[in-house]
Amino acid sequence: MSGSLRNLVTKRCPSLFRHGLHPSVVQMQRRCLNLQEHQSKKLMHDFEINVQRFHVAETPSDAHTAAKSLMESNAKELVLKAMILAGGRGHGTFSSGLKSGVHLTDDPQRVENLCKDMLGYNLVTKQTPKDGVKVNKVMVAEAYTIARETYFAILMDRGYNGPVMVGSPAGGMDIEDVAEKTPHLIFKDPIDINTGIQDSQALKMAKNLGFAGEKQAAAAEQIKRLYTLFIDVDATQVEINPFGETREGQVVCFDAKLNFDDNAAFRQKNIFEMDDKTESDTREVDATDHGLNYIAMDGNIACLVNGAGLAMATMDIIQHCGGTPANFLDLGGGVQEHQVFHAFKIVLSDPKVKAILVNIFGGIVDCKIIANGIVKAGKELDIKYPLVVRLEGMNVEAAKQILKDSNLPITSADDFGDAARKVVACVPS
Ligand code: GDP
Ligand code: MG
Repeated sequence: MSGSLRNLVTKRCPSLFRHGLHPSVVQMQRRCLNLQEHQSKKLMHDFEINVQRFHVAETPSDAHTAAKSLMESNAKELVLKAMILAGGRGHGTFSSGLKSGVHLTDDPQRVENLCKDMLGYNLVTKQTPKDGVKVNKVMVAEAYTIARETYFAILMDRGYNGPVMVGSPAGGMDIEDVAEKTPHLIFKDPIDINTGIQDSQALKMAKNLGFAGEKQAAAAEQIKRLYTLFIDVDATQVEINPFGETREGQVVCFDAKLNFDDNAAFRQKNIFEMDDKTESDTREVDATDHGLNYIAMDGNIACLVNGAGLAMATMDIIQHCGGTPANFLDLGGGVQEHQVFHAFKIVLSDPKVKAILVNIFGGIVDCKIIANGIVKAGKELDIKYPLVVRLEGMNVEAAKQILKDSNLPITSADDFGDAARKVVACVPS
């Protein structure tokens, strides 16, 4: 798997960091493992980080039972949350018409009734695709009265060559607006990965987040534990929004978005086993099973490329020429003919696709293998769309001959720009 493509692109990284990124980075999606909030909170609980007591339910009656048991064990109020990977649930809407994926109540019967409009329906938020994501599970948790909501995150950041803490005293559901309109309320502090987080750093962040008196030390302690978790589980992101203060003076992580470094999967088996893939694009899973990398996008030009850099450049040049990519399929370095064939099958299963661009620079890849794969796909699959092929590198002349001899309706392109112009010209603008 090409780790570099996964690392170049961003999914669900805090919206704060979307601003100012390379356009390709903003549009493409990162493939670092995400966990559901309840899975993340279980990990956090194991690291003695303050999270609320919770149960997970898949039916309204199970949610009712969970709510009842929390109320019977001294919860004053309950919070019911839809479990989807995307954020922004509080401001979301269900396909049932119900507003908000986060509800507060002290009535187990209301929990059950709400679940009837949540489970099995799609929740649409600012961070989901436009049709939303189906809700299969809910979390029923003990709610606290929140006196103040702050934002706290730790990220692995290329700009700092390591982890960086990011915090804001103005946390909660409108953090994107805070980042855009009042950037001076965002505090960043890099952490030296060799020495780890210093007490003074944790205290300074707690102060910047507006924690005063005894709560400052309590918040600093939570920050240090979050850093220990971040390092121990090979996270690329730990985002807590709200990182809140209760009326009783406790510092609590009310929400949690954790992402993990895919390259650490071999040593974080317990965590990676939790990936249930139900929210993953089925084409993406299919591609992974065939040793390919697939990333879905919104346009209509399918792109078969090799390598992350070429993928990004191909996307930019397509956009520069007035087109929009439907997806990227990275064939990788050691690709074989049957994988090229399967790559075509995957992109052809996307109904948005109206043209296909194959853009290969054969360094490690043998262009003849690509050409044979294209010919097999052309003969055995029903390719109804214009196909533009640009090959360069190892055995390119022999590869071009294979394409020519096939008599398939393939438009060949001489260079990168030529390929992009030709494929964009094939699709209605
Ligand atoms: P998100 O909208 O997907 O980020 O979901 P959150 O888990 O952050 O919940 C959205 C909002 O619900 C939070 O910003 C809080 O204002 C509120 N909320 C979540 N949990 C609690 C709770 O235990 N008590 C109270 N009073 N509000 C909560
Ligand atoms: Mg939140």
